[in-house]
This record gives sequence, structure tokens and C-alpha cells, in this order.
Amino acid sequence: MIILSGGTGTPKLLIGMKKIFPESELKIVVNTAEDVWISGNLVCPDIDAVIYALAGVIDEERWWGIRNDTFKTHSALLRLGCDEKLKIGDLDRATHIFRSEMLRRGLTLSEATSMLASRFGISAEVIPMTDEPAAVKTKILTDEGEMHFQDFWVLRRGKPSVRGVRFEGVERVQPSERFKELLEEEDFVLIGPSNPITSISPILSLRGVRERLKEKKVIAISPIIGGRPVSGPAAALMRACGFEVSAEGVLKCYEDFLDALVIDEQDECCHSSSCKILKAKILMRSEADSVELAKTLKQFFNKI
Ligand code: GDP
Repeated sequence: MIILSGGTGTPKLLIGMKKIFPESELKIVVNTAEDVWISGNLVCPDIDAVIYALAGVIDEERWWGIRNDTFKTHSALLRLGCDEKLKIGDLDRATHIFRSEMLRRGLTLSEATSMLASRFGISAEVIPMTDEPAAVKTKILTDEGEMHFQDFWVLRRGKPSVRGVRFEGVERVQPSERFKELLEEEDFVLIGPSNPITSISPILSLRGVRERLKEKKVIAISPIIGGRPVSGPAAALMRACGFEVSAEGVLKCYEDFLDALVIDEQDECCHSSSCKILKAKILMRSEADSVELAKTLKQFFNKI
């Protein structure tokens, strides 16, 4: 099974998935369009969130970085005048240093990611959507001009009003080799409850991906519950891209290839002839919620 992931909603679900499915069968293709070089190292926020969630070390307050991390290096770099856009923890930075060192030694991002995952004790496959480091950049068009996603969300805290989104460079890069192989081999695709615009759309925008998904059984989980996202900027971004902020809007984002959409028990969504609507408790407040949702998904896989 291929799982498409961003850095919060899907990693939450993965915590339960690894208890219900054999971990080694999870093949997680992760968005890299928010990756940035900071103080000499490549930061891959979504890849790291997936690894840290599966390894049980993620900071569950922020769904970002490592629990109980310290920020001494970040403070020291700021004092030295470095432009550190993200507040990177010391342990988290070790991951970025390791990754960047592997890249400097000539390994691909896929190889570096796979080494990191295994050193964190993970048997799931974690696969970057492309092997070209930071080659795809999510740009947010706002009333204050165009800015990198990290400038919009971290520096400006999502305040500028959004007019559009584009993925700079996406037409120039290939999906990673392993992702291409999986698109040949696997029959099932799960789109986790991630932001459809900034986390899933960059993956879908890679050459050939959307077309291949039409040949698969694809099930998605809505990141929108009761007309709003559980966290993050999905509402403003969906609206700016012309989608309603609702389960219906999520369906529209994927309607050309989707076989089933899992929405919250309290929500409604129009059925379409080609896509089943399945209801479940999709808010994950705890590991137990995530395990329950993974169990339900296992049953749903037999229905589509
Ligand atoms: P990002 O890379 O940090 O933006 O992370 P994702 O795209 O993976 O996740 C952000 C999305 O996860 C948001 O749109 C949230 O609404 C969604 N999300 C977060 N927690 C939950 C949850 O418990 N249930 C569901 N269904 N969606 C969630």
C-alpha cells in the first residue's frame, strides 16, 4: 500500500497504522515541497515528522521536531547573525546534519532518508516524492506578494491573505525512482488526512502521478471536519484554490481518481457514482483514536 503524506495529519494516523498493519508493508511517499536549506543543512519537515512519529519521538504539542528538544544551537546561530527561518531543535538538527552529510557524500535523498529511517528503528519505507533536494518550492501568492510556504506559515504565521498557490519547479523534476516503482507495483493508495493543497497536491503534480492513480484503488481521509481543518492553513489555501472548505471540497480536490473518501461521522457529503463516501471517527486526539481509525480503514479496504 502506498500512503501519501504531509507532516501532521497523516503522521498522526501512521502511529495507529503501524499497530494494525505490518509496519514493513507501509510505503509512505512524502511531500518535499516545503523543504529548505537552513544554516547549511537540508530540512525536510514532512519527512522528519513521519520518521519522528513512527519512531515515537515526535513533539506532539507542535507535531514538529523532537519531544523535549533544546534550542541552544539555534540561539547561538541567531547571535552569530544567521538567518534561521525555522526554530530548529538541537536533536532535530542532528537529523538535518546527517541527511545533508549523506547528500554531500553523493547519496540520493531517498538513500539518505532510508538510512535515517532505519537508524530511528523504523521498518516502514519512507520515500521522498522526488530525489532532487528542495527543487520543488511551494509558493503562496498573497496580497503582500509571493512568498515561500515557510515564510508565509512560520515567519508571517499565515496572516497574509491568500490568492493562490503554485509549486515552483514541479514540472522540471521526476518522481523518485522508488515512488515510480511503487506506482507500477502497488494496487492500493491511501491519502492520509493531510492538507490537500500544500501536502498532497505537490505529490499529485509530479509528472504522471495523477494519471497512474486513476488505475489504482484510492481511498482518502478528509482533513476537514465540521467545515474546518483540525490544524494548519488548509482553509485559506483551499478557498484560494477554488475549493469549498468541507468534505465535499476535499472530494473535489481528488475526484478524478478517488474511489472512496472517509469523512467524519457528523459530516455530510454528496455521493458520486464513482466515489464511495464512508463515515468514521476521523479526529485523532490520542494514539487510541489513531489505532481505531486504522482498524476501520482495514475494513474499508475490503469494501472498495
Ligand atoms: P503539514 O505538512 O504540517 O501541513 O501536515 P499535513 O498536511 O500532513 O496535515 C495538516 C492537515 O492535517 C490539516 O489540514 C488538518 O486538518 C489535518 N489533521 C490534523 N489532525 C487531524 C486529525 O486528527 N484528523 C483529521 N481527519 N485531520 C487532521
